[in-house]
Amino acid sequence: MENPTKLAFIGLGTMGAPMAQRLVDAGFEVTVHNRTREREEGIAGAARAESPQRAAEGQDVVFTMVSDTPDLEAVIGGENGAMHGLSAGAVLIDMSTVSPSATQELAEKLASRGVDMLDAPVSGGSEGAKNGTLAVMVGGQAEVLERVRNVLSPLAKTVTYVGPSGSGQLTKAINQVVIAGTYAAVAEGMALGLAAGLEMDAVVTAIAGGAAGSWVLENRSGNMIQGEYPLGFRTRLHRKDLGIALEAARALGVPLPVAALVEQLETGLIKRGYGDEDVSNIARAVRENAGLDD
Ligand code: NAP
Repeated sequence: MENPTKLAFIGLGTMGAPMAQRLVDAGFEVTVHNRTREREEGIAGAARAESPQRAAEGQDVVFTMVSDTPDLEAVIGGENGAMHGLSAGAVLIDMSTVSPSATQELAEKLASRGVDMLDAPVSGGSEGAKNGTLAVMVGGQAEVLERVRNVLSPLAKTVTYVGPSGSGQLTKAINQVVIAGTYAAVAEGMALGLAAGLEMDAVVTAIAGGAAGSWVLENRSGNMIQGEYPLGFRTRLHRKDLGIALEAARALGVPLPVAALVEQLETGLIKRGYGDEDVSNIARAVRENAGLDD
């Protein structure tokens, strides 16, 4: 397959819908499928298919963008799953954030049918999906990535090959571990400053240009200071991602105490009904523990 042109996109949620639209707008022939079928109507210029299997039939490349590991297993290997429609020589590009080990198993199953799979999770949020500025981290065979680079370019600012199958998902897990610690540390810093009665905008300006500077400090410390957490990135999805990271870490015998603590704090926030708030609401737990919201 040289320069694929016929694509399917399965999973039209917050991320998948704008990504599918960008592929249509870039001139590819795109067939879409979503479990809640009405959402397919939102993709102007795309053909619709009644199942992942039907969507995958006759395509060069099939994208998947669904919530979690069991959902991916269902849309690929389940009844009427994409696996039953894909032809030998096609490529499946999964852009969901899911388990690295489940990814490897799915890649092996697909390989036995002559289909190559890339794990290509993303960072950059819904803004990145709309604007085509996602950072994509790719696992699988490097030569397969080269064959499909043209279909990733409308979606991404960067496409980085990181290693064999599962490596893209492991890289995304590392991304989520790094931001877990950052969110928690910024939340603690903000709580300390608020308790001391400091002028917090000045504090953030003072430290943002030094070694404490980060995307979280610049873009989310305001939420933490105000005690308001509009989306952003859902807490329940970040906890799902930390679950993936902690499972991989357990299998490798690597303790991740900070990530485990943040996962536990998020579990409490979700239990209390805050799972659909932005992940900066880790500050809610920190502020309440400090008596700042009494
Ligand atoms: P979302 O808005 O909740 O959409 C989830 C999509 O998956 C929907 O199309 C949903 O179909 C479909 N789906 C879920 N379970 C399914 C199942 N069992 N069978 C078939 N389809 C199923 O989620 P999102 O924000 O787009 O996130 C998608 C993936 O990208 C997740 O893995 C997430 O962690 C990752 N991600 C998200 C962001 C972000 O900022 N949102 C950033 C980077 C990565 P229905 O419409 O029928 O529910």
